[in-house]
Amino acid sequence: MKVNIVVWLVILTACVLFIVFYIENQSLELEPQDDDLSENSELPEELHPIVEKKKDQLVEKAGNQGITIIITEGFRTVGRQDELYKQGRSEEGDIVTYAEGGESYHNYGLAIDFALQNEKGRAIWDMNYDGNNNGESDWMEVVEIAKELGFEWGGDWARFKDYPHLQMDFGLSIYELKRGKRPDDPASD
Ligand SMILES: [Zn+2]
Repeated sequence: MKVNIVVWLVILTACVLFIVFYIENQSLELEPQDDDLSENSELPEELHPIVEKKKDQLVEKAGNQGITIIITEGFRTVGRQDELYKQGRSEEGDIVTYAEGGESYHNYGLAIDFALQNEKGRAIWDMNYDGNNNGESDWMEVVEIAKELGFEWGGDWARFKDYPHLQMDFGLSIYELKRGKRPDDPASD
């Protein structure tokens, strides 16, 4: 009789252990897997090579239409983004961005900002300026060239219109970029 109880206890323990083990394995499988985080998930320190190239093409093509532009921003560190975010909030000035550090495509080298240069050599943000006298807004001419080159324009955004801003997201959301996803580097092909 005593032997019987011991045998049953062993069997019961084995069953409990099996069930616990099974459930743990199940829950492990339910945890989200980090899907193919690319090896180059470090933050870049400069513009993505394609954005760099398109930026130069934009300056050149605008120049061909008699429009001189200045690239006022390109790659931006997360620290500088945080500083900009404070402007108009905890620090004085106008709000210039809705993105905190790590939330802007500038932080991943995927965005640039431009301004026009007037005949006095000054940077201007006048969207009605027609320096090449063709009856069209120079600003919108630049935007049109930028879109042809594949840039998305911040002036098209519904929430916060960022008129000097041009970006290329390569199909990646900020959420994905924050998690370490990066566009392919053409140099590594
Ligand atoms: Zn910008």
